[in-house]
Amino acid sequence: MTGNDKHSSISSPEAVDEAPARGRLFVFAGPSGVGKDTLIRELIGRWPFYLSISATTRHPRPGEVDGSDYIFLSDEEFTSWVDEGRFLEWARFSDHRYGTPREAVEEQLAAGVDVLVEVEVQGAMQVKAIAPDATFIFVEPPSIEELEARLLRRGDTGDMEARLERARVEMAMADEFDHRVVNEVLSDAVAGLLSVVARPEGS
Ligand code: 5GP
Repeated sequence: MTGNDKHSSISSPEAVDEAPARGRLFVFAGPSGVGKDTLIRELIGRWPFYLSISATTRHPRPGEVDGSDYIFLSDEEFTSWVDEGRFLEWARFSDHRYGTPREAVEEQLAAGVDVLVEVEVQGAMQVKAIAPDATFIFVEPPSIEELEARLLRRGDTGDMEARLERARVEMAMADEFDHRVVNEVLSDAVAGLLSVVARPEGS
């Protein structure tokens, strides 16, 4: 699935111009509250990529915009999307469902654009099963205490214990990922991410 796939059918210099190399798929996971959205915002403008907009059954937080932060669906709508095969992956998290719409991701990759999807770990493992060549990045907090403080700051107090328990489960799966980035000092985490997503020299 990578743009520099050794097994691609490019065989002559002429062929290089015929079809754009496929974009590369990056899967970004890490416990809720770790700062994935902030990191993604920092990447905008520093790396050309398409950010997949997930669908979810949870309600918008103050300031969140439908179609931009998430596609907010009712339970019935989400079920229809599942039945129609419109998700690349989907998973339950904290009593709600979240999924990556398939079509936009496939279109962008085919057009040669790198794609970033942000998911929790079950979704990441589903993507790994169907796209093992994707690059899997796990963002971790400096500590569980710091994660709790960040969740409190953003007002996610309702299901705090569930989110922290889930965070422990997710952090135990960090070894499944190709890269781990600790989000302690934002600029360091951004630099770490940019070194992972940078295109190899000459590609
Ligand atoms: P939140 O409710 O805090 O926005 O998101 C809760 C969790 O769902 C986060 O860990 C987030 O990364 C994850 N998530 C967001 N979109 C998707 C998605 O499309 N698929 C999956 N599997 N998880 C997602």
